[in-house]
Amino acid sequence: MPKKSIRPFLPFGDQQTAPWYGKAILSVKQFNRNDLEYIIGVAHEMRVMVERVGTFDLLKGKILANLFYEPSTRTSSSFMAAMQRLGGAVIPISEVRYSSVAKGESLPDTVRTLGCYADVIVIRHPEIGSAALAAKHAGKPVINAGDGAGEHPTQALLDMFTIREELGRLDNLTVTMLGDLKYGRTVHSLSRLLTQFDGIKLNYVSPDILRMPKDVMDEVAAKGVAQAQSPTLDGVLPKTDVLYVTRVQQERFEDPAVYSKVKSAYIITPEVMAPAKEKMIVMHPLPRVAEISMAFDPDPRAAYFRQMEYGLYVRMALLAMVLGKA
Ligand code: ASP
Repeated sequence: MPKKSIRPFLPFGDQQTAPWYGKAILSVKQFNRNDLEYIIGVAHEMRVMVERVGTFDLLKGKILANLFYEPSTRTSSSFMAAMQRLGGAVIPISEVRYSSVAKGESLPDTVRTLGCYADVIVIRHPEIGSAALAAKHAGKPVINAGDGAGEHPTQALLDMFTIREELGRLDNLTVTMLGDLKYGRTVHSLSRLLTQFDGIKLNYVSPDILRMPKDVMDEVAAKGVAQAQSPTLDGVLPKTDVLYVTRVQQERFEDPAVYSKVKSAYIITPEVMAPAKEKMIVMHPLPRVAEISMAFDPDPRAAYFRQMEYGLYVRMALLAMVLGKA
């Protein structure tokens, strides 16, 4: 009798030809307008599915390693929720002091290890370029969840999705970024991302020492996007469609006295918002410290809590894409 051939497990049917299959997501510079429209479409489908059925098995059998070297509430829990809503499982490593990192293990070795157990790795790390380094060694797709003051591409994508869902368009918008534009990685990523759309005008309002870095402004200028810097909101606010408020990033200041001087430079209150348009939105990547008064929260233009929810759908879309299911 010929030996019966033993069939191994079939692969789970990943579409290896899917455009984002196996790719790392490190910077918003990777995306062109078509990619962005595609992500918006998939995220929208995810929203519909979550609203309809809550959880479904698109990523059943897949494992996410969620590796956070810096504090996080929204990014880390929304990636975990995204994976679980798609039927997958998560290895959460948020307290790196309890992992071998505390024994001096290098980032390449840590991600190599996780690459043996997981299908995708999400990483947040205090150093610029750390996600790219991780992607070189992981052997699995890596998603940058914030590399120091560098980039935060998934936040920028969810910011973009928020603007589209809330205002119905991404072209012909005046976007005003306010606060710590020097260390705030979310505004670095968002300003770059918005260069993909037409008729964008960017206003940067910050204290002198927290201005948008020159390299980011040069990149944006090279794409032909209009930018203006200002020390106050006066004159800028009435024309603004999106006011993007940021926290002053205490953890990135070397001198606490300098932080104290600028920490409360701008505070959004109902009175400050009086000259703003009726149809506009206020966004914030959160956490807020004191930049937006709670008295403004009930205003329909306060989009920052809805923005968190949009993050879930975008992160579901990205996980499905890099795992070959979208
Ligand atoms: N949550 C955002 C980030 O991780 C913004 C912040 O921390 O202020 O960059």
